[in-house]
Amino acid sequence: MSAIPASLKSPPPARISDVPTPDGRFGRYGGRYVPETLMAALDQLSGVYAAAYDDEKFWDQLDDLLKTFVGRPTPLYRATRLTQAARERSPTGQAATIWLKREDLAHTGAHKINNTMGQGLLAIRMGKSRIIAETGAGQHGVASATAAAHLGLSCDVYMGSEDARRQRLNVVRMKMLGARVIEVEAGSRTLKDATNEAMRDWMGSVEGTHYIIGSVVGPHPFPMMVRDFQSVIGRETKAQCLRLLSRLPDAIVACVGGGSNAAGMFYPFVEDAAVALVGVEAGGRASAPGEHAASISMGEPGILHGSLSYVLQDGEGQTAPVHSCSAGLDYPGVGPEHAYWHERRRVRYTSVTDAEALQAFTLLARREGIIPALETAHAISESVRVAASMNDKQHVVVCCSGRGDKDVEEASRLLNSQA
Ligand SMILES: *Cc1c(COP(=O)(O)O)cnc(C)c1O
Repeated sequence: MSAIPASLKSPPPARISDVPTPDGRFGRYGGRYVPETLMAALDQLSGVYAAAYDDEKFWDQLDDLLKTFVGRPTPLYRATRLTQAARERSPTGQAATIWLKREDLAHTGAHKINNTMGQGLLAIRMGKSRIIAETGAGQHGVASATAAAHLGLSCDVYMGSEDARRQRLNVVRMKMLGARVIEVEAGSRTLKDATNEAMRDWMGSVEGTHYIIGSVVGPHPFPMMVRDFQSVIGRETKAQCLRLLSRLPDAIVACVGGGSNAAGMFYPFVEDAAVALVGVEAGGRASAPGEHAASISMGEPGILHGSLSYVLQDGEGQTAPVHSCSAGLDYPGVGPEHAYWHERRRVRYTSVTDAEALQAFTLLARREGIIPALETAHAISESVRVAASMNDKQHVVVCCSGRGDKDVEEASRLLNSQA
């Protein structure tokens, strides 16, 4: 990581959605901070993606996969009993109606498959037969292994050995799908270290290998491309709102790890100024360094994994340790477009603690019969708070990014230790 060069402080574009620039800048954020050996691969990827973007056949093919294999469109569900819970917490007794965008019902149980199917198709367009991926909790690894199996590609997934131990079930799922899981022993043996190893692999294998990054992070064109693939969430939500409410919602809430479910949900709404957008980071156990993963709320601009964005770092500019009860939010960086939306004040970023997320986890299970991922529970918690500050005529949509089967053991352990 290093300080931001002054030359990057260019004037902002007029339209907030009009990013990135051709060199991958979201305002001053984003860009490409990678070794020379990766520049050619990133240029190739940008070129292939630009051609695919203008090719109706590419989007038809992806659309068909999303419909027939992933199970899209996912429902927009009116959470009546969760709304009631918000009314009970409201000082006025009124609350906005809460709607859940059910990404937990997508194949493999989360939004990540929207991106891996898109990038899998791109790998085929580039004539590459092998994909690699990094994974923390194993959700992106499973989504990558699934896309590879479905599209006939080989797949290697890098995973920190500490994460592999904690997420044994997802390791078994990836192997069952035919992927090789490469455990990383470096550093804290978690997501950041797995990402470093995946990048190192790619530097030596770019000719036949495509690296599927799992969130809106990394060097250009990844943040833009992953946002585009995940924007199916927001586009569907917009159409569903117009059909069910005959208007747009008043607020949208999503959790932010790297920021892909939030970016996909927000992007189609960024020019709709009347729609409040709220990103929820992991507040962890406390606000002290190492106790949370709230990169925007508590970090500073810096460079991590090839792009400039908000990063949690110590006094020496080293990436700081992070904590969250949810493995998918446990990352010291965030996508550059979120840094830009934060700076333009288009999205309000806030954080929810482990304890609040656990409460929301139980609330959604008991009130709606839906066990959310612990990541998702952060967004649910904030959506109740937002809804309780509004009136009965208003509407809040929350991105239900994933299901919680993977988290039931960890959640019961944490709930028991609280009791
Ligand atoms: C991975 C994951 C997240 C966090 O990733 P984003 O890129 O921020 O979306 C959130 N929810 C679920 C269910 C996940 O699997």
